[in-house]
Amino acid sequence: MQALGMEKIVIIGAGLIGAALAHKLAQRGRAVMVVEAALPAALASGRSFGWINASFALNDAHFALRVAGMAAHERMALALPGHHRASGCLWWEEAGEALDATADRLEAEGYPVRRLSRTGLMAREPALRVAPEEALFFPSEGWVDPAALTRALLQASGAQVLAGVTGRIKTANGRVVGVETPLGLIAADQVVIAAGVATPGLLAPLGLNLPMRHRPGLMIRTAPVGLRLSHILAAPEQEIRQDDAGCLLAPAAAFHQADEGRDLTDPIGQAAAALGRIGSLLGLAGLRAEAVVQAERPVPGDGLPVLGAVPGVAGLWLSVMHSGVTLAAIAAEGLASEMAGQGILPVLAPFRPDRLLTAA
Ligand SMILES: Cc1cc2nc3c(=O)[nH]c(=O)nc-3n(C[C@H](O)[C@H](O)[C@H](O)COP(=O)(O)OP(=O)(O)OC[C@H]3O[C@@H](n4cnc5c(N)ncnc54)[C@H](O)[C@@H]3O)c2cc1C
Repeated sequence: MQALGMEKIVIIGAGLIGAALAHKLAQRGRAVMVVEAALPAALASGRSFGWINASFALNDAHFALRVAGMAAHERMALALPGHHRASGCLWWEEAGEALDATADRLEAEGYPVRRLSRTGLMAREPALRVAPEEALFFPSEGWVDPAALTRALLQASGAQVLAGVTGRIKTANGRVVGVETPLGLIAADQVVIAAGVATPGLLAPLGLNLPMRHRPGLMIRTAPVGLRLSHILAAPEQEIRQDDAGCLLAPAAAFHQADEGRDLTDPIGQAAAALGRIGSLLGLAGLRAEAVVQAERPVPGDGLPVLGAVPGVAGLWLSVMHSGVTLAAIAAEGLASEMAGQGILPVLAPFRPDRLLTAA
C-alpha cells in the first residue's frame, strides 16, 4: 500500500467523541487526521437526544464522571460558544418516595436540585397539559445539538477529515503503525478508536474482544410547533426537548437509560405512539414527525464508558461510551492528557479498557 504521508495522530470516527478529542488535541498544538467511514455525526451523534446531565448515573464513579463531564462542557463552551443551551431539566420520571429518594441522593452529593409543586412546575412550563403533584428541577442541565457541535468542533480543530473512508488498524511488533484505508496506509504513531458501535469490529483483527450491549432506539423530530418549551422535560411516559427551530425532539422510549435491548419491531408504530404521548402532555393535536431515525447506542458490556490505552498495543487508544454527549468533553480532556503522557484523570480511572477487554 502506498503511504499517504506521516500523520502523528489518527482518530477513527468523526462522531462527537472523535470530534471533541480532535478539538482538544488541536488546542494542545497537535495535528490530527480523522478518518470517517460515512460523514461526521452520521451515526449515534447525529441521532441523539443531546441532553447533558448527571441526575442519572449507574454508580458513584459514574455520577462523579458525569458531573465532571458537565463542567468540561462549560470549558468547551468557552472555547466554542453558541452550542450549549442552559435550559435546565424538569424531571418527574419517578413519583412519591422514589422521587424523594432521588432528590435526597442528589442533594447529598451537592448536585443542584429544586423540588417543585405542580403549581411551581406549571409556572416554569405553562405549555404542560398534564402535570404531576411534584417534580424536580435540575437547573444545571441542558442540551446541545450533537451533530452541529460535532461539525463545529471538527472545523475549529483544523483537523483533516477523510470522510467516506473506512479505516482499519495496522500494527507491527506490538505497536500501532497506522490506519489502513482504501486510499492507502496513513502512517501514525498514535491511533484513537472513536468508532462507537463499530469498536468491536476494529479490535477483533487485533485478537481483542470488547463486549457491547445491543441498545437500539428511535429519535423523533416533529415539524416546528406553535408553543415554546423552556426546559428539557423528563416525564415517565416521554422525554422531550425543543430545538432552536421550534421542532420537538423525543426518543421513542421513556426512561432514557432503561429501555431494553430488543430490536425495534415496529418503528413507525412506536413513533406514532410517542407522538401521541407528546400530544397529550402538551395539548398538541395532530403532531407530525418530520423525521424518525433509528439508532444504536454505543454501550459497552457493563453499561459504563471505556476509555484509555489499549493494553498490549502501544500507541492505540480507545474511547467508547453511551451518554457520550454528556461525556464527550471530559473524555477528550482526559484522553488528550493521557496521550501526552500526563497521566490518567482520577475521575476517569474507574473506566479503563482492561476491565472489559479480553483475548478474542
Ligand atoms: C437515541 C439516542 C439518544 C441518546 N441520547 C443521549 C443523551 O440525551 N445524552 C447523552 O449524553 N447521550 C445520549 N446518547 C448517546 C450519545 O449520542 C453517544 O454516546 C455518542 O453520540 C457517541 O458518540 P461517538 O462519537 O462515540 O459515536 P458515533 O456518533 O456513532 O460516531 C462513531 C463514528 O465512527 C465512524 N466509524 C465507525 N467505524 C469506522 C471505521 N472503521 N472507519 C472510519 N470511521 C468509522 C462511524 O461512521 C461514526 O460516524 C444517545 C444515543 C442515542 C442513539
